[in-house]
Amino acid sequence: MKPSFQTKLPHIGTSIFTEMSMMAHQYKAINLSQGFPEFDTPELLKSAINQAIAEGKNQYCPSSGLPELLEQIGEMIKIRYQKDVSIENKVDSLNNITVTSGATEALWVAIQTIVRQDDEVIVFDPAYDSYEPAVELAGGRCRHISMNTPDYAIDWSLVRQTINNKTRAIIINSPHNPTGTLLSRSDLITLQKLVLEHNLYVISDEVYEHITFDGLRHESVLSYPELFKRAFVVSSFGKTFHCTGWKLGYCVAPTDLTVEFRKIHQYVTFCSFTPAQYAIASMLKNQPNHIGELAEFYQQKRDVLVKALEKSRFKVLPCQGTYFLLLDYSNVSELNDREFCHWLTQEIGVAAIPLSPFYQADKLANYHENNKVVRLCFAKYDKTLQKAAEILCQL
Ligand code: PMP
Ligand code: GLN
Repeated sequence: MKPSFQTKLPHIGTSIFTEMSMMAHQYKAINLSQGFPEFDTPELLKSAINQAIAEGKNQYCPSSGLPELLEQIGEMIKIRYQKDVSIENKVDSLNNITVTSGATEALWVAIQTIVRQDDEVIVFDPAYDSYEPAVELAGGRCRHISMNTPDYAIDWSLVRQTINNKTRAIIINSPHNPTGTLLSRSDLITLQKLVLEHNLYVISDEVYEHITFDGLRHESVLSYPELFKRAFVVSSFGKTFHCTGWKLGYCVAPTDLTVEFRKIHQYVTFCSFTPAQYAIASMLKNQPNHIGELAEFYQQKRDVLVKALEKSRFKVLPCQGTYFLLLDYSNVSELNDREFCHWLTQEIGVAAIPLSPFYQADKLANYHENNKVVRLCFAKYDKTLQKAAEILCQL
């Protein structure tokens, strides 16, 4: 006899990324579904991690992160986001930054740090899939607000209407996965006004912070001192340095929130993989231009894919950042988006991600009626993108 068992996450199954990548593998389809680069991580990073391992840097590092890495992240933040921020409001590397095992851990810990039983957290659909389970396991509940279509803008008046005395936090994500849109300065100013007025926290998922296009700037919460006082800003080296499998990220938060964040982080993992921290610190120090060149690198890839799809029957939606492109397939198929992605993978040989899993389940009937949109990942070699587009142009 076993003790009786009830799932803590009744609505959660296998993630759509696992589902589609497995299917791509099984049917040998070109995998533009799960977001990861096809190309390798920079040589300097590979030799730096090998060197760290060879030099015996293989034991635990401080729980909050390797000091050299914290310092490099702090420098990067000051240069990119805090030029106009007064000295007393600038990020203090040792007390405000914690290195985590990917952005996933940072998001998880930030949510456990602030969400209490019966608290509500506002998320914007389509929402990245890891937010809701973390909120639910903390005893809270997500309030989903759909972004407007077709531009995926946030309707702040709806946010205002949704806030009540149970609202604890708002989770934002810019550059946005899966839509490739950016929040503007005016969005952040409105957000700041709301959270100050209603005394809320903000969790800002900025993992694609360096991938913005057409001269547009990423608006980081780190540039808004009043907002930052109540925020957790999360990023990931996986996106920036083409090493998603290293699972290294970080969380930036004010000192009081960082103290609480670290209490939980130390018992989730204690510290993250030490050799990778040495390697990333060395990369940030010795090849700082990698970050500056990332936007142009991915913009070129976006343009290759968009151009190659020009003659297709898909409608390409605007993409301002991230390495994802949305396609409206309403001229191609009547299937719903999941069925369409299954068919595309199995029969046509290109794997994509449906958007509906990023929406609240009970809004889906209405969703399917009005939306036929899938996501392609363009972090691939040009020849892979061209081959996939060639196939898609035949539909
Ligand atoms: N947030 C978003 C929006 C993401 O797209 C991802 C991963 N692709 C993550 C968080 C998680 O990042 P990591 O792999 O560093 O855990
Ligand atoms: N974030 C990646 C994506 O959006 C996948 C991460 C994962 O597989 N959990 O595709």
